[in-house]
Amino acid sequence: MSGPISPEDSATYIDEKRESVSRRSFELYPSRDTVVGNTHVRRALPKRQRRTIGAWCFADHFGPERLNGKPGMEVGPHPHIGLQTVTWLIEGEIVHRDSLGSEQPIHPGQLNLMTAGRGVSHSEESSGRKLPSIHGIQLWVAQPDTTRNDEPAFEHHDAIPEATFDNASAKVFMGSFGGATSSARTDTPIVGMEATLGIGASIFALRKDFEYGLIVLGGKVAFNSQMITPGNLAYFGTSRDELSLTAHEPSIFLLLGGEPFPYEPLMWWNFVARSREEITQAYSDWQSHAERFGQLTSVLDRIEAPKPQWL
Ligand code: MN
Repeated sequence: MSGPISPEDSATYIDEKRESVSRRSFELYPSRDTVVGNTHVRRALPKRQRRTIGAWCFADHFGPERLNGKPGMEVGPHPHIGLQTVTWLIEGEIVHRDSLGSEQPIHPGQLNLMTAGRGVSHSEESSGRKLPSIHGIQLWVAQPDTTRNDEPAFEHHDAIPEATFDNASAKVFMGSFGGATSSARTDTPIVGMEATLGIGASIFALRKDFEYGLIVLGGKVAFNSQMITPGNLAYFGTSRDELSLTAHEPSIFLLLGGEPFPYEPLMWWNFVARSREEITQAYSDWQSHAERFGQLTSVLDRIEAPKPQWL
């Protein structure tokens, strides 16, 4: 599951009047419903008003969806630059293939992490013929200048560290939270975890130098009197040392956080970069089958790039 980013999600220029990071704010943004490779998704990030939370720059929540024997998600070979793709499932199975030669099924509670760097291509297929339903999220992490032109890489993690809290438990798949630390590669200080809440209140200690966002995957979670449900992104800003949440029914959510990213990335289609020139180069390299994106054979059709609006 991946992109593409359209101008509805993110402007095709760097916004010089970028909104500064909010301290101790609470903002609730509706996700945008869209379709990626036959799968309905709720796109929580990016928003035109907010491109990043830490280095997290993309979040597509898909399902839960009964596949009834249909193939489900089928996203053919497509390229990425300048980002990591983070795939996390609640139900079902997705098979990842990439131009590094990786072929990796992923199941609930496991992490697939692909680092694009200067260029990689991959495909993703759910296995609806084997498993009845699909539910999960795909996230992107923008890479910093220090690593975004490096070689691509892929990691699979099937042992995700867990943390426990009053009334809650968490699987920490990126960074550290509640005393648990993931061994997954991170290029900037970030955290990503899935929490399961029982009915009642839970308190989570936060880092004041991180900003945080929350996406409910199932159930509903109350922050003060505000109800957060699937299909919304809650943003909490920086400068909080704890987050107090109440669940009126068993709920599951994703908490994403990180040091505010030092600049606003330019996002177009499946590319994260710093300038239109870089994106134009990646576009023409993909369309000309350049060596940069490697070779990937798939039964699925290769996805051609649309022409950038500025060309
Ligand atoms: Mn992708």
